[in-house]
Amino acid sequence: MVNVDALNSIRTDIPDHVTLVAVSKTKPISNIQEAYDLGVRDFGENRVQELVEKHDALPEDINWHAIGHLQTNKAKQVANIAHLVHAVDSTRLFNALAKHAIKPLDVLLQLHIASESTKHGFTEEELINSIEEGLLSNPMINIRGVMGMATFTDNHNQIASEFRSLRNAYDKIKTGMGEGFDTVSMGMSGDWKIAIDEGSTLIRVGSAIFGHR
Ligand SMILES: *Cc1c(COP(=O)(O)O)cnc(C)c1O
Repeated sequence: MVNVDALNSIRTDIPDHVTLVAVSKTKPISNIQEAYDLGVRDFGENRVQELVEKHDALPEDINWHAIGHLQTNKAKQVANIAHLVHAVDSTRLFNALAKHAIKPLDVLLQLHIASESTKHGFTEEELINSIEEGLLSNPMINIRGVMGMATFTDNHNQIASEFRSLRNAYDKIKTGMGEGFDTVSMGMSGDWKIAIDEGSTLIRVGSAIFGHR
């Protein structure tokens, strides 16, 4: 079931420059169809198998966002159907996506901003070095921006400062990145308001819309 009130209030509250991606992972196709019928066109999935199945079963005009950590051996499946790959966290994955893309593929570079070591992503230094060394440059990949996940905590200040570090990294590398570099993907059900205050342009919201997983 879609929480229609929650969906509508998020849509009303977010500024025009922010895109809402409804994270439908683990939820049945019927839930996605319901949100689609309410006008939602951007959905996020973190498992490749599930992404492929849902993509094949649902309307063609959906923008599918691959939001989860991706293994290089799954790059081909994702490159063929994703509207945006959020979690490019290594040059190896970047190269695998470039190799399999059939048309230029939009991606985000994931930065590690949380204090938890379990989360993936480049450090800011690694990212800047990789860009300077030309390791993140390929005609088959459009780097559209950055993505990150804050620490799972109630500490508002900590979350805000982690999001700020992502936005700062984005601003720092933006000059070298061409025109389409316009996306800062940060903010989930519990922290999307903080993320928008700190400069997010895309929020990924699951449980607030579709209920607990
Ligand atoms: C699951 C997930 C989300 C959505 O999380 P909620 O707390 O349910 O809104 C956002 N981003 C990523 C990368 C996720 O894996």
